Amino acid sequence: MDHRKTLRMTDRAAPLPPPTLRLVVDTGALAANWRALDALSGGARAGAAVKADAYGLGVEACVPALRDAGCRDFFVAHWSEVAAVTRHVPAEQVAVLHGVLSEADCAYARATGAVPVINSLDQARLWTATGAGRCHLMVDTGINRLGIGLAEAGDPAIAALDIDILMSHLASADERTAMNRMQAELLAEAGEAIAHRRRSLANSAGIALGESFAFDVTRPGLALYGGVPRAELAEHIRPVARIEAQLLQIRQIAPGEGVGYNSAFIASTHMRVGTVSIGYADGFLRQRGPGNALRHDGRALPILGKVSMDMVVVDLAAAPDAAAGDWLDVPWSIADAAQQNALSAYELLTTIGPRLRAR
Ligand SMILES: *Cc1c(COP(=O)(O)O)cnc(C)c1O
Repeated sequence: MDHRKTLRMTDRAAPLPPPTLRLVVDTGALAANWRALDALSGGARAGAAVKADAYGLGVEACVPALRDAGCRDFFVAHWSEVAAVTRHVPAEQVAVLHGVLSEADCAYARATGAVPVINSLDQARLWTATGAGRCHLMVDTGINRLGIGLAEAGDPAIAALDIDILMSHLASADERTAMNRMQAELLAEAGEAIAHRRRSLANSAGIALGESFAFDVTRPGLALYGGVPRAELAEHIRPVARIEAQLLQIRQIAPGEGVGYNSAFIASTHMRVGTVSIGYADGFLRQRGPGNALRHDGRALPILGKVSMDMVVVDLAAAPDAAAGDWLDVPWSIADAAQQNALSAYELLTTIGPRLRAR
């Protein structure tokens, strides 16, 4: 590679101008949410699910804030997610939920110091055969995704493991169902049969079920980032993410004129409308158009017509002072937005966050 050439090109390049669309992450609110969930966990300590790049809000901003708040157990899904997290916290505090599927996974685990969550007898044997060491163990108590069955608890492959956290995952923590209690009892039963240091069951919604679901370590994800999976959590959780989009242009339209593709909105009167820098390429899906509004200083600006790839058009009647360049709030009470979107808060966060941060 010709480094001189690269350098010259960099020298010539102008700095990237500021974006017209931004995701603002309130790390103070994130830390407050962790502390609230930690307190709600009673005698247990809250960890943090930081998989999917901290649910789309960015490991870079979120993990240091969680660490400084006191979090010591971080959960990711993939080995590829480890390095970004261990830039901020010791590797032994990072657990990888998908576990070890190959010798390469085991080698990577040992090289980085991140800790696999063993999910099957095969994974247990592989981890032991490649050198053993501290691990976590997932027990399936009814969700039927990952984890050993209770019937496998007595297997020598499990006895051979050095297990720190013995964990399970609730299938319906966001519902009132007898299954929750049953899963907690099955984890307790597994704890009798399997040597371990700590136990863990509750995700965000599970924490709201009460202290008897908290065991030793809880694993909130969504609620840290401002999602409210159960009504009991609403008073404890602060919004963390804000989306702001810039007003690109303002125009006057006359009665009979249409707005956007297929003129899906047609003016019945003279209107002042504004074109805004957010669209479905940013995760602001088409279904968010009709009946939804952006805000200017708290005033609602209804969306007119179809959401385009990079733009929406809003009615400026409520904000006669709005000018091109102004920032509009994209309402993002996660719960509301998810409802309007027919998306879960989980899907909303993890799809919209990364795109905004890339702008
Ligand atoms: C994602 C995940 C969590 C976090 O769940 P939330 O519902 O976001 O709080 C906890 N535990 C496991 C095993 C997970 O996969």
